[in-house]
Parts: sequence; C-alpha cells; structure tokens
Amino acid sequence: MPNAPDSDIYRTLLESTRAIPWTIDWASKTFTYIGPQIEPLLGWTPESWATVNDWVERMHPDDRQRVVDFCVSQSLAGVDHEADYRAMTRDGRYVWIRDVVHVVRDAQGEVTQLIGFMFDITERKRSEEQLAELQKTLEELSYQDGLTGVANRRMFDVVIDREWLAACRDRQPLSLVVIDIDWFKQYNDHHGHLKGDECLRRVARLLQSVARRPRDFVGRFGGEEFVLVLPATDRDTAAAIAEHCRQQVLDACIDHPQSGTGDCLTVSAGVGTTVPEPGADPVEFIESVDRRLYQAKLGGRNRVVGEPAVAGDVADRAAELAH
Ligand code: GH3
Ligand code: MG
Ligand code: MG
Repeated sequence: MPNAPDSDIYRTLLESTRAIPWTIDWASKTFTYIGPQIEPLLGWTPESWATVNDWVERMHPDDRQRVVDFCVSQSLAGVDHEADYRAMTRDGRYVWIRDVVHVVRDAQGEVTQLIGFMFDITERKRSEEQLAELQKTLEELSYQDGLTGVANRRMFDVVIDREWLAACRDRQPLSLVVIDIDWFKQYNDHHGHLKGDECLRRVARLLQSVARRPRDFVGRFGGEEFVLVLPATDRDTAAAIAEHCRQQVLDACIDHPQSGTGDCLTVSAGVGTTVPEPGADPVEFIESVDRRLYQAKLGGRNRVVGEPAVAGDVADRAAELAH
C-alpha cells in the first residue's frame, strides 16, 4: 500500500482544485482556513474571512435568512448538507455558490468543526434559468393548456376567428358556450391547490366527452373558465350541449362541501348563437355570451343562461344527447 501523502501534498491538492476548501471552528464560529482560490473568484483575500459573519454579510440579502437558518439547523443537528446561494464579490457582483458542508463531531457527538467546499455554480444556474425561460416561451407558443391538456386561450383566439369567418361565409349558425366553475376559490381553500388542479383536469375531460363532434372545440379560457366553440350548431342544440355539460359535472359529484350551491362541484354557463354578418367582430359576440355567464352566477349558479328558448325543446335535446 502506498504511503499516505504528507500534509504538503494535501495542501497542494486542495489548493489546485477549482473547489474552494474551508474550515470553521464551531465553538468560536471563526474560519480556521479558506483556500486561496477564493480571491480570484470573489475578490476577497483569504485573510478577510475571519468569522461566519463575514460569510453571512457577503451573501445576497435575499438568500441570507434561508441559507443561514438551514445551515445552522443542519450543523446543530450534526447533519452534512449543501446550500446554494449568491455570494457577493468585492466589486459588488454576485456569483452563485454551492457550499457542500461536512459536520465534524467529537467522540461525545458534539460538533467541533465544519469542513466544506465552495463550488462556483454560476454557469449551471445560468443554464437552468435559460431552460426555465425556454420552457415558459414554449408553453406560451404552444396551443395546449399545460395543466388540462385541452386547447389554450391562444388556440381559442385562432379557432374563433377561423370559425367566425367560416360561419359568415356559409351562413351557418355558430355557437359559443362559456363555462365557469362555481365556488372554485373555496374548493382550492378546502382541498388545496393540487386537488384544485386535478379537479380542473376532470372538468376538462367531462367537457370533452360532451363536445365531441369533429369540429367542436373545447378550450381553457383561463383559471377555472372553459369555452366551447360549436360550429354549425343552432341555438337549441347549443343550449342542450351546455345543459348537458352542467349535468355531467353535477353527476360526477366532485366533493365540494364548501360550495354555496350544494355538496358537489357545479358549473355555470352562458350560451349564445349567431350567424355572423360580414365585417362583424367576434369580440362583441364573446362579450354577450360572457354577460350571460354572469347572469347565471347572479341567478344562483349551477345553471345555464342562453337566449330565450322553448324550455321543452332544450330538455328534449339534452335528454337525446345523454343517450
Ligand atoms: P364563482 O362561483 O363566482 O365563479 O367563484 P369562484 O370562487 O369560482 O371564482 P373566483 O374568481 O373568486 O376564484 C377563482 C379561483 O380559481 C381562484 C384561483 O385560485 C383558482 N384558480 C385559477 N386557476 C387555477 C389553477 O390553475 N389551479 C387551481 N388549483 N386553481 C386555480
Ligand atoms: Mg368560478
Ligand atoms: Mg372565473
């Protein structure tokens, strides 16, 4: 077996790596050593690192509380740990550091020393941030809602314009249903945000199961609001589809004890139908349907408000759709 290297060799090894070694005496909270590599990285001389306070003060103010609390509690518990934070350079810039810390304890288990390495992870952080930004951009550019998998608002804008023009050209009725979950804030408050997300996925699937003709469009308008674009669909059929959506959600009996309407999750909907005139703007039409949704809310929720129609017709068509 080769002889153990002497301390000069250790020192050379330590001081030639890119990681910066350091040691802290736990009782006095002072640095007993810090590698000379610290100076080229942060600009502070090794001698200027006297106490842990120097370490704290040379940390980004936004990182201090979190990192210090974490490192102190881990050290007190005698647990090795790692922390990422921004260290301030002597000229006021910030460098991302990963500190990897080993807690040394004596025979009685008392903490005596901390030994660690600082790694410059600025590059890694930069690529992580770039990746996160890229993902955000991709999501924005995509036409799919990341949570529910149905089309997103961006896609709706494209589809409504396209169907508007087609309906105008073909002199066909175009229908729109705007659906909003009732008391959803209370649902989140009661069940938590993750269950809230799951609920949104469930509602999206139910709506997709109702509006399933090839040109029917189901999208998430935003938050807990969904929209159906129903080309070549007359007023009564659209009202029946909206009613069927409401009923499907109710029948699913998604537990919602905090709902002001009952014990299960409900939705409200506004419906409208139009044969667009050449040159007309879909925005006004969308707004008129939105106003009906608002009326459905005012009217007590768990209901559909559409254009005046013969009630029997709607009930018959809803029954037909259910079969
Ligand atoms: P109303 O019956 O009048 O529609 O009341 P509401 O509570 O449904 O409406 P409000 O606009 O007060 O609250 C909507 C809630 O929807 C609040 C918000 O936290 C929640 N929400 C919006 N988007 C999401 C999401 O992506 N996930 C989850 N879990 N909740 C969401
Ligand atoms: Mg709502
Ligand atoms: Mg809403």
